[in-house]
Amino acid sequence: MSLKPTPEKPSFHRGSFAEEIETARVDLAKRLLRGDSNDTPSEQDTPHLSPTGSNSPPTSDSDSVASPSEEDLVADSFAFAFDIDGVLVRGGRPIPEAIEAMKVLNGDNNPYIFLTNGGGKTEEERCDDLSKQLEIDISPAQFICGHTPMSEMANKYGTVLVVGGEGEKCREVALGYGFKDVVTPGDIIKHNSATTPFRKLTDEEYANSKERDFSKVTIEAIFVFADSRDWAGDLQIILDLAMSKGGRVGTLSDTFDEGPPIYFSHNDVVWSAAHDNVRLGMGALRGIVEYTFKEVTKGKTLITHAFGKPQISTFEFAQRLLKRWRKNEHGLNAPPGTVYFVGDTPESDIRGTNRFNEQAPNDWYSILVKTGVYQEGTEPAYKPRTTVNTVLDAINHGIEREMANRQEKVRARKPALKGMPKLRLDKAPEMAIWSPDEEREIEIFAV
Ligand SMILES: [Mg+2]
Repeated sequence: MSLKPTPEKPSFHRGSFAEEIETARVDLAKRLLRGDSNDTPSEQDTPHLSPTGSNSPPTSDSDSVASPSEEDLVADSFAFAFDIDGVLVRGGRPIPEAIEAMKVLNGDNNPYIFLTNGGGKTEEERCDDLSKQLEIDISPAQFICGHTPMSEMANKYGTVLVVGGEGEKCREVALGYGFKDVVTPGDIIKHNSATTPFRKLTDEEYANSKERDFSKVTIEAIFVFADSRDWAGDLQIILDLAMSKGGRVGTLSDTFDEGPPIYFSHNDVVWSAAHDNVRLGMGALRGIVEYTFKEVTKGKTLITHAFGKPQISTFEFAQRLLKRWRKNEHGLNAPPGTVYFVGDTPESDIRGTNRFNEQAPNDWYSILVKTGVYQEGTEPAYKPRTTVNTVLDAINHGIEREMANRQEKVRARKPALKGMPKLRLDKAPEMAIWSPDEEREIEIFAV
């Protein structure tokens, strides 16, 4: 196994892996719809600007992990999962070591997936961007973004408000997930421009926004798919609905407890972009929504929900995809023995990996890199199993650890030579007689 990049070799899991991920997604969606999973957001998902521990129940996936046999390829026993922003990409540009890191993985046929809290485009579009940035071919089915799990709720609600992202992108993503009727903040502003006093639609936005008779519309849920491009306007519209009579635009509840449920695709308060210092993320907007609701309702509490890392459901999702692929590709009915998760944000990447590891049947090994949110010299709020400089170092660490574990297993199988007769020069030698098999074994382990 080489630790050097070998760019010309394609990844061996192209195609079938993509199909497996799709299958696993559908299965998970069915399971969620049956309600036999802990993936449905709960009040425990209430945001914390400084996240604390979780009471999430254990995963229902309790399959044991197969012990690797002597014939196993090393690559069969482990896999990688990557966060994107601050690990592979920063400010729209690849982190230099990321391109080499992907070549190492493809050269060694290591399976990997991407697990980002980001979003705002379809999985296909995001993969096209990432494929160009990292100079590899990435399948959408290797890719889980913040709003991917929202697809499971498409059948649960009728009309929904979708917030965030550029232009009409998130409406298109939501319709692609199967949501039946999607309203955007632009539709509401077009209907009544007084909704947001300081926000006027551009000509393009006005043309794209839909004419609706909101007296006949009930917003059944609010989904913040991606980062808001207009925090003030979106905050106003989310609060208006949170305080409305049952999700009807322009109404005001007497009790402020009959608004639609509000879902955020993740809860990252900050993220790593082009600026030297971290930038505010969706978790900050979520905190502002809840804080402001309390202020304007004179003390009422608004409970919102978040998907994405560090939610256990997101990691469970990834686990099932990897497990499915191993089963169909290799006939192994178990997830990889070790999944190396590489992230830059202790509060989401490391926290989620460590939490999931406590209940997963296999080892989820958290690796923190120094190219994003985490800054060297600071104390991470959640401790990784190891910290390295870059994603390339993370991959080399994982591969070297797997090789060391394997060598340890080989050593453990070396036959003990206890009780063998000693050769003494002062007596006639007592020669040990070994069978041909024993001789071969000793030769092998003597190398
Ligand atoms: Mg990140």
